[in-house]
Amino acid sequence: MYDVIIIGAGTAGLSAAIYVQRSGRKAVCLEENTFGGQIVNTPEIANYPGIKNISGFDFAMGLYEQATALGAEVEFEKAVKIICEGDDRIVETSSGKTFTGKAVIIATGAKNRHLGIEREDELLGKGISYCATCDGAFFKGKDVAVNGGGNTALEDAMFLSGYCSKVYIIHRREGFRGEPDTLEALKKLENVEFVLNATVTKLLGENSLEGVEVKDKITEETKVIPVSGLFVAIGQVPDNEDFAEIAELDSSGYVKADESCYTKTPGVFTAGDCRTKAVRQLTTAASDGAVAALAACSYIR
Ligand code: NAP
Repeated sequence: MYDVIIIGAGTAGLSAAIYVQRSGRKAVCLEENTFGGQIVNTPEIANYPGIKNISGFDFAMGLYEQATALGAEVEFEKAVKIICEGDDRIVETSSGKTFTGKAVIIATGAKNRHLGIEREDELLGKGISYCATCDGAFFKGKDVAVNGGGNTALEDAMFLSGYCSKVYIIHRREGFRGEPDTLEALKKLENVEFVLNATVTKLLGENSLEGVEVKDKITEETKVIPVSGLFVAIGQVPDNEDFAEIAELDSSGYVKADESCYTKTPGVFTAGDCRTKAVRQLTTAASDGAVAALAACSYIR
């Protein structure tokens, strides 16, 4: 029996675990993949208050160590169902295990959005990647492209420019969501070229990626960019379908909740990128973790 079952061990989930443990309660995080969530794939974090510079991996490791040192448990299980039985909140996992607690925090984060074009799955690991930090080194000295205009794409491009002979940044419009500082720094690099108002329409190559076809949104002309790697960084999508009955989802699949982190079900809370919110940042994920944990502890009391 746990006090709080936290679904997800990313920044929001592990922050929640820290706060639950420090409130004298017992937390378990159920994590489908590796702990740390999306931030593990970020080469460098430079906007977390109080930490000038840190890699995503080191940040995630720090969170994990802090949470587990306080007594939180992390179980590598995929949560598939939340059941409310009286005061119990039971979470079932895909392996058939059940975890019983008094409150649940859904902190499932979000997954990489796919381009949704032909051969994307087939060429995964053969030129297509969603993680520059994980796969960048395989492309040392090669020409690659990054697709996207957010912070992930810009940071990936910056990271890859250190390894690769050439980095194309393909973005569907001229304006970028990513931080202007990073954008300006990229513009100064000789091995970075911007391909704007363009979408990737075809993936070329026999057994591995040899190039991408892009279509100019204004002229509708297509051209081929010869690259052996394409890093897809076009944002995230939530993965909350399994909890739709318990926690109401919006039309995009995010758990409907405001800053209080309450869902429609008593004893079920939500935190981080998986919930409806305007700003999805490391800071807001950590903040949600604290808010949801304290709300859960208060609910239990
Ligand atoms: P994002 O900010 O949502 O940006 C996604 C980018 O992909 C946008 O430029 C978007 O274009 C483009 N896009 C979306 N769907 C597309 C499609 N189907 N085809 C082509 N392009 C598409 O995602 P993100 O960069 O992964 O960042 C997610 C969140 O994490 C953001 O809040 C970001 O600031 C944060 N983050 C923070 C850090 C950090 O703190 N160091 C690092 C990485 C990410 P449009 O702009 O035209 O919509």
